[in-house]
Amino acid sequence: MASMFLCDHMLIRLGRWLRAAGYDTAIASGAASDRALLAQAVAENRLVVTRDRKLGEFREAPGRVLLLRAGTIEACAAELTERRAIDWLYRPFTRCLDCNMPLLPVSPELWQSVPETSRATGGDLRCCPQCRKLYWPGGHVRRMRHRLERWRNSDFVETIDETRQM
Ligand SMILES: [Zn+2]
Repeated sequence: MASMFLCDHMLIRLGRWLRAAGYDTAIASGAASDRALLAQAVAENRLVVTRDRKLGEFREAPGRVLLLRAGTIEACAAELTERRAIDWLYRPFTRCLDCNMPLLPVSPELWQSVPETSRATGGDLRCCPQCRKLYWPGGHVRRMRHRLERWRNSDFVETIDETRQM
């Protein structure tokens, strides 16, 4: 089965976490029809991750659609881990969270556009070749990494934290 994913529009946040972990993850636009979404999954050899029961009823669905029952992001991550053996530290922070593009290393001159407090931490500076967003190992990435580490240890929190931004 594919280890590349296609999250439906209701699972944008889960899709971004999969990208943070390093998985090649497409996220369907809200406008995509069920049929278009399945066609994309087949064409790109992706596993559709969805909570939409209807998607499971298509002819292409067996082996191609993973129907999650969970509600919160933590519960979705737990269910996905259980059913797909996700390694949340597969290749952490190697993809753009917005575009899914593999990040590229950038020249040290660009460090000037990084806040000074983050510059002090050192580490790699990477850039998305599509949207040009910069990624560096600052506090934001550290907090995300903590969550990825927790998930990797199958430590999922039963709480509704949908308001917390990633
Ligand atoms: Zn990008």
